[in-house]
Order: sequence, then C-alpha cells, then structure tokens
Amino acid sequence: MSEENVSRNFIEMEIDKDLEEGVYDHVHTRFPPEPNGYLHIGHAKSILLNYGLSREYRGKFNLRFDDTNPLKEDVEYVESIKSDVRWLGAEFNDNLFFASDYFEEMYQCALKLINKGVAYVDDLSADEIREYRGTLTKPGKNSPYRDRSIEENLELFDDMKNGKFADGEKVLRAKIDMASPNMNMRDPVIYRVSHVHHHNTGDMWCIYPMYDFAHPIEDAIEGITHSICTLEFEDHRPLYEWVVRECEFVNGPRQIEFAKLYLTNVVIGKRYIKKLVEDGVVDGWDDPRLVTIAALRRRGYTPEAIQNFVKLVGVAKSNSSVDYAMLEYCIREDLKLKKPRMMAVLDPIKLIIDNYPEGQEELLDIPNNLENADMEDRKVPFGKELYIEREDFMIEPPKKYFRLFPGNEVRLMGAYFVTCTDYKTDEEGKVTEIHCTYDPETKSGSGFNARKVKGTIHWVSAAHALKAEVRLYENLVDEEKGVYNEDGSMNLNPNSLTIIKDAYVENNLAGAKAHDSFQFVRNGYYCVDSKDTTKDHLVFNRIVTLKSSFKLPKA
Ligand code: ATP
Ligand code: MG
Repeated sequence: MSEENVSRNFIEMEIDKDLEEGVYDHVHTRFPPEPNGYLHIGHAKSILLNYGLSREYRGKFNLRFDDTNPLKEDVEYVESIKSDVRWLGAEFNDNLFFASDYFEEMYQCALKLINKGVAYVDDLSADEIREYRGTLTKPGKNSPYRDRSIEENLELFDDMKNGKFADGEKVLRAKIDMASPNMNMRDPVIYRVSHVHHHNTGDMWCIYPMYDFAHPIEDAIEGITHSICTLEFEDHRPLYEWVVRECEFVNGPRQIEFAKLYLTNVVIGKRYIKKLVEDGVVDGWDDPRLVTIAALRRRGYTPEAIQNFVKLVGVAKSNSSVDYAMLEYCIREDLKLKKPRMMAVLDPIKLIIDNYPEGQEELLDIPNNLENADMEDRKVPFGKELYIEREDFMIEPPKKYFRLFPGNEVRLMGAYFVTCTDYKTDEEGKVTEIHCTYDPETKSGSGFNARKVKGTIHWVSAAHALKAEVRLYENLVDEEKGVYNEDGSMNLNPNSLTIIKDAYVENNLAGAKAHDSFQFVRNGYYCVDSKDTTKDHLVFNRIVTLKSSFKLPKA
C-alpha cells in the first residue's frame, strides 16, 4: 500500500482495495500506444498516470506498442514514442514490448475459444454483420453460421490462417449474446483476414486480431494487473473481462477507465494533428504550435512542467476540457527560478546617449535572477548606442505612461537614468531614433537615491547585440469561433505564428544551444529552436508570455 496520505484518486482507491482484498499482491501497469502518430499531451497524462502508479506502489511499468493493425502503423513512430516516454521521465528499462510478438499466443487463444464452442467462423459480409447486429433499441439476430460444429470452425479458421480466403470473406467471431443490451457483446469479430505486410512479422500472418480481443490478451501475457484506459472503453469492459475469463488466464488483469484529457483551443486528437502535418499547415509533428510531446519539447516545455500539469489536472471520471492557460502556468512556474533573465529587444528602435563619451564601453554587472540568490551576476556590455523596445517610447504618452517620452527620465535596467531630449522620424512619422542624456551618478548599485524614476526599461548595446529570429505563437485554433467547420475542416487562427526577423539579444546568448531557455525580461520565456538554429542564426521560440505580456505592435 502506498505511504502517501494525501487525498487519493478513484484509481488509487480501487488499487488499494484490490491489494487489501488480495486480488493482486502487486501492481503492474502499462502504456500501450498504437504506433500510428506522435504522442501528445493527452498521452502524457496516461503515461505519467500509469508510470506514477507503478512508482507509488513499487510495482512495474511496461511500454507496449499496440501494433496489431498493420494498415495504420509505421516504425518511424516507434522511435519517437520511445524517446518521448523517456523524456517525460517514465523509465521503462527493459520492459519494452510489441503486441505483434504475441500473435502466436493470440492465435492459440482463438483456437481455445473455438474448441470451447464460444467462437465461430462467420461468412457474413461486413455490411450483413452490421445489419444483423441490430441497434440500441433492437436486439440483433444470430448469423446463420453461428452453429457450425467445432470441427468445421477449426477447419475454416485454419483455412483463414493459410490464406485460402480473401480479405473480408470470413471472420472469426466470439459467440456471446446477440440480444445483449451492450452492443459490444453481440458476437464481436475477433479475427479478420487481411493480406497485408506487417512491420514486425512480415507476411507470416494474413489474419489479424481485433483490438478488443488482442488488448486483454496482451495485458494478461505481460502480467498487467491494472489496465488503465480512457472512458470510451467503459462499454467494452464486459468484453475485456469475457476474453480474460474465456481464455482462462489465471489472475488476469482488470480494466479501469478514466477521462481523457482535453485542452481548450488546442488540436489534440492524433488524427487531426496528422492531418495538419500532412496538409502542411504546420512544420511537422514537432511544430511548436502543436501539443505533441515533440512540439512541447521544441517549444521549450520541460518534463517537470508537464508532470506538474498532469498532477494539477488530476484523474477524473467524466470528460471535460482543461484551460490551456493552466499548462502555461505550469511552465512559467517551472522556469521562474531556474532560468537566467536576459535582455532581448524584439521590436528595436535606436537610443543614443548624447553625453556618453564617444568610444567608451562598460561591462555592467547584472543579476541573472533576482528571485534566485544562487544565480550569479553576469556582465552585460553598455555603450553610447542602444536598442530599446519601440513600445517603450511615445511621442505623446497617455496618462500613467511611465516609460520614455520627450522630457521624461527612466531607468535603463541595471544601468543608468536617461532623460529623453529629442527624437527623429521618417517621412511617415515613424520614430527612427531617440536621443537621451544620462546621469553618471545614477549607476545601478551605486546607492544613488537623490531622486526616483517610475519606469524601468530594458535595452541591449547596439555595438554588441546579436541579431536573432524570434517566433511568437498563439493558439492554432480558436474555440470561440468553433474549432471545426461544418465540412470538417478546422478553423485556424491566422495569427498563430509571428516571425520577427530582426530582434536583438544581448551577446551573452551567443553560446546558447538547442533547447536552452531563458527569460527575456519583460517579454516572456524563450527557447532556442532545435530545428532551425544554426551557428550563425539564432532562432528563439516564445514558450510563454510573462503574466503581463508584451504585445508586438501590428505591422
Ligand atoms: P487519439 O485519440 O489522439 O487518436 P489514441 O487513443 O488513438 O489517441 P493510442 O495510441 O491508442 O492513441 O493511445 C495510447 C493510450 O493513451 C491509450 O491508453 C489511450 O487511452 C491514452 N490516451 C489517448 N488520448 C488520451 C487523452 N487525451 N487523455 C488521456 N489518455 C489518452
Ligand atoms: Mg487508438
């Protein structure tokens, strides 16, 4: 039993009960992805839930590829899934399995069912099977082939296996109850003929098990105790139990369902993400606007933030959407104390300090993170010409604007007070240059307190700053407008990506490597893009804004 005494979710309570009653003497969970796409934040929830339970109860955790459907699967996805699961912190060590390795056992289970008289070969077509199945209000009716002898069934199933039938010509069905109120129990198909090459077993098989038959067998073979899945399988649970029982697994697994994770303003289903990738709407499965694990990682999310998010969301029994802002909250909280706060100017305008001596340069000591005393100061070059944010200057400011305007004095962060004396504009009236004077007495850290200023703005030295590309992201879809249109297409946000080509960042970012992240003061958290950054072209992804976010003026 777990030692934690905090409030327990319903899955933990079920497990506690099983252990107390001696149904199981240990806990063994698994994460069973189908390798038909990249993992997303919803999968992260399932991974961390299953892995977390195995840790909590000092049990085991398997990663199992549910690769029983050769039509949709691809080995490319296997590698991405393995690395994503590891990156999230769910260590599976050698407990890595492929359901296709169990095809022989599954086949033996099918033979067992036939021999017990609870499975039969059916000649009805898929359409006829559907028709015979009935509806929620109308019971189904028995297939005319339902009462074939065991011998005949064995022979026909053997022929299915040996390739004597074309796809769809015959199926193997469980013989349960065509009048069951649960449609899943109306003699479900458990094997189909499918002449397709499988990435693992090649052309060894031309019959493949159906999910509802294969899954409980996979769990049972691996000794899984608690097979945790999402709510849509609740109605399949009686079938899951039927398979475990009729295949005579001793101390077999049990299924427990929880609600899927949904996020507001986010495209989450694998199918939909795949479509965005295939249509070229996004730059691959790891486009930072997606919520695949690969995308979140590229964007600058950390495993800790995702772990914390999953914890905050909790485990529920009914479906609901979680506010995307909660995920953002988690990454902000994670980065807040860990990351240095650097200066970057995204929409630069030049500021010239007229009374700063020509040719002079200083290296200022600027704290990396005032909230974290363990982080030391860094040296930041300062000079006569700087860049500041365009929005930190106004010719005619509204009330309560405390930043730079003609005649006003502000603090340059970590440096000096400057007073705006003049500015220049182009023909269209756009400000091109700001002129200031500085007061050498006011240097940060000098203890100067003869007068105060209300605004502090950030800057970078024009002579030293590095040019960088910065990518700002917004939600890919807008729920208020409806994510999906009537024709099934998606309502995409045209502003989901803004590319700034000419941002300036302080030169301390020169050595930044892929996945490194920083706070850009007053701007947000940013991460070095792992795909497009090169030795002489830095690309930053905005992970998340600060609470009060800076908005780039619309061009
Ligand atoms: P999708 O709905 O995105 O197509 P899937 O369920 O088809 O995903 P699988 O590879 O079959 O993807 O899922 C592996 C595991 O992840 C399953 O146990 C599934 O229940 C779980 N899972 C999938 N989506 C979510 C989600 N949104 N929240 C929680 N768990 C999920
Ligand atoms: Mg699936």
